[in-house]
Amino acid sequence: MLDLLQKVCDAYGPSGYEARVRDVIRAEVEGVVDEVRTDRLGNLLAIRRPRGSGGAASQKVLWAAHMDEIAVMVASIDDYGFARVAPVGFVNPNTLPGARVVFENGVEGTFGVEGAALPREALTLPSMFLDVGATSRADCPLKVGDLGVFRHSVVRAHGETRVLGHNFDDRAGVAVLIQALRELGDSPHTVLAAFTVQEEFSLLGAAAAAFGLEPDFAIAIDVTPAGDTPKIKPRDACLGAGPAITLKDVAVIGHPQVKQALIAAAERAGVAFQLQVSFIGTTDAMAIQTSRTGVPVGTLSLPARHIHTPTQMVDLNDLRGAVEVLKALVSS
Ligand SMILES: [Zn+2]
Repeated sequence: MLDLLQKVCDAYGPSGYEARVRDVIRAEVEGVVDEVRTDRLGNLLAIRRPRGSGGAASQKVLWAAHMDEIAVMVASIDDYGFARVAPVGFVNPNTLPGARVVFENGVEGTFGVEGAALPREALTLPSMFLDVGATSRADCPLKVGDLGVFRHSVVRAHGETRVLGHNFDDRAGVAVLIQALRELGDSPHTVLAAFTVQEEFSLLGAAAAAFGLEPDFAIAIDVTPAGDTPKIKPRDACLGAGPAITLKDVAVIGHPQVKQALIAAAERAGVAFQLQVSFIGTTDAMAIQTSRTGVPVGTLSLPARHIHTPTQMVDLNDLRGAVEVLKALVSS
């Protein structure tokens, strides 16, 4: 699982420019499913048709994980070669000083703050500049519109299962989806796996994917802020305690039947899981649930610490548990 996670995390894929990561994912799922295609918005769709017997109650199940990552877009370059940027997705300015950013052409840089010293107050993007070491506008290797993403390496932290990386949101979900497709046994159901675009910006990649695929129900697989760090209450979605079935976030109330199906799947699989009520954020499930005449949705969440910063942490046991839940969900 760590090898797969490293592979998908290393691929460049800011919202709207997901071609590179899409190619990496396509190579992983081709030959594993019955059909792989890209829709006009850029979503990668991997379809696994029913196998084995017992197809009477066959359903079309959508699994969605977004392949885009948060980014900054170059908005202007000044006379001295410093770039000003706009956020693509939620980028917290306070996490940027010292962060390493890489562009599609391989150029790397970091952020500085106007004035000589790092101020004590909260930072804002307009008071910051991206420094790639250029000396003038003409000399700067960036253009307006170029997109930079956080770039570090995925490494083990503590023990065998805690890992650090820069874009587990939502490459951890992408890795879970790929692994679940690889390990899928017989199933009476059609599995529609969507690796979606632009979740961090608008959620609208998932909207287009769901419209095209017409699922009977859908599960979004995404990270959720872990609630087991200092001074967080309630203490939920703890790292390493299993995937979380999110009952509600700020925009989605999980459909009761999907919730029951997820709980039953976790129990069938014998996987530890957590029930979570999330006070922040939402996922592709928000866009999917209003597709056409409505789609019952649920959210399978991977606890992650420090999301929307350049260095995030997940526990591989939670990813493994999520793979087992997805497999069990469609096994009967
Ligand atoms: Zn996400």
